[in-house]
Amino acid sequence: MAHSCDVVVIGAGFAGVTAARDLSAEGRSVIHLEARGRVGGRTHTGEAFGREVEFGGTYVHWTQPNVWRELQRHNIPLARPLDVDTVHWLAGGTVHSGNQTDYHSAVAPLTAQFFADARTWFPRPFDVSAVDTSAIEKETLAGRLDSLNLSDHDRDVLDGVLATLVHSYSEQGLAQMLLWASVNFGEWGAFLEAAGHCPIKGGTRRLIDAVLGESTAELRLSTPVSAIEDDGCGVTVTTRAGEQIRARAAVVALPLNTLSEVTITPEVAAPVRAMIDRRHPMRTAKILARVRGEIEPFYAFAPVGKNPVNTARVEYRHEGDTLVVCFASDASALSAEDREGVQAALRTFVPDIDVLETAGHDWVGDPYSQGTWVHHRPGSLTQAAPQLRKPHGRIHFAGGDIATLGVGGIEGAMETGAGAARDIAAALDNGSY
Ligand SMILES: Cc1cc2nc3c(=O)[nH]c(=O)nc-3n(C[C@H](O)[C@H](O)[C@H](O)COP(=O)(O)OP(=O)(O)OC[C@H]3O[C@@H](n4cnc5c(N)ncnc54)[C@H](O)[C@@H]3O)c2cc1C
Repeated sequence: MAHSCDVVVIGAGFAGVTAARDLSAEGRSVIHLEARGRVGGRTHTGEAFGREVEFGGTYVHWTQPNVWRELQRHNIPLARPLDVDTVHWLAGGTVHSGNQTDYHSAVAPLTAQFFADARTWFPRPFDVSAVDTSAIEKETLAGRLDSLNLSDHDRDVLDGVLATLVHSYSEQGLAQMLLWASVNFGEWGAFLEAAGHCPIKGGTRRLIDAVLGESTAELRLSTPVSAIEDDGCGVTVTTRAGEQIRARAAVVALPLNTLSEVTITPEVAAPVRAMIDRRHPMRTAKILARVRGEIEPFYAFAPVGKNPVNTARVEYRHEGDTLVVCFASDASALSAEDREGVQAALRTFVPDIDVLETAGHDWVGDPYSQGTWVHHRPGSLTQAAPQLRKPHGRIHFAGGDIATLGVGGIEGAMETGAGAARDIAAALDNGSY
């Protein structure tokens, strides 16, 4: 079978779009296959309450090199949500309120303990094998929390500030949180600022459309892939509709939790297969709430399992009302359609809040994500994920889920998409593909 193109890119989230753009901009012929009827993957700038909202990945930062470079190249500014000073946090069965300084005083000594060894394990966070991580890779978030022997009150305070990023303390590996902290100088507060404060003006759609606009790849939407085979001379990609596309190489830029549905030949290494089959445990929900009136901006934090909304933040005014972004650690405990449930959960913090409308996307039930952002189980971050980043013959994997510095985010998606494109371009240039 003759080659239809140089490279097939599978998946049109930030990883796939970056790879397709980089390869096609170098003059390679690229066919780009995407299962959904839209690009963006786990980012989705959509509409709710009569305005633009972000249902998935949203926040970026100037400390993220790949993202920042693209924002600058395309002259796309950051948006500026409302400034917030008031914080409510649930601890020891009571809601405490204060300003940012009060909250920082309560939280900082606890996060300092939790993340004390972050830079010891990841002194050069771009190289997760710089230190032998086998001991820390056995630990879960639960193990670390228990080991600190905190009072119930302090444990709740610490749990609350971690909770946006936790679905299950016992299933999530400690290593990924330590790596995130290490990337941000060992400071959890710095990580939280980078990971959760700056939306893009015009939304993530504006950024992905700008990158896509530079791609000359042939993009085929609504084309899920079922199999990919490398026979040593090229790759054959089979779509669920039965079409076969032959290329010199492929980029597989799919969410980790969907990889088990694609047959990969030859089989991947055993630790990689185990990571794919066990899937990552993140089953959180992001829920947007329109609340009555221009209420005082606030942040709210609650420990996992102690309130259905674990993190909330007032973000924008809208037509005389206020938009609150909520994260629920357990998507099965609170649905975006449950306006009254969201109101009850927010009333834990602000007793008279009136939720008028809610919106969200079910990323856990969505067959093309089957979860939210990645959080690796013990062992995967520094063992199986790096193996998946290496070329598997002519098949190159990419995605925020298997990234290093930007693991779990848009930055990691762009980092790995660009890396896969570089590796394939080099192999095409030197004639090995
Ligand atoms: C609710 C939520 C909030 C988040 N918040 C942030 C945030 O604020 N900041 C941040 O940086 N990150 C955030 N993230 C994470 C971020 O969105 C992701 O890490 C990033 O978008 C992943 O990009 P990707 O290209 O690796 O994967 P994806 O965006 O998932 O793209 C993979 C693509 O593959 C497609 N696909 C799946 N199966 C197939 C198949 N069989 N055949 C063909 N195509 C297929 C999918 O449809 C999808 O388009 C958030 C994620 C969620 C869900």
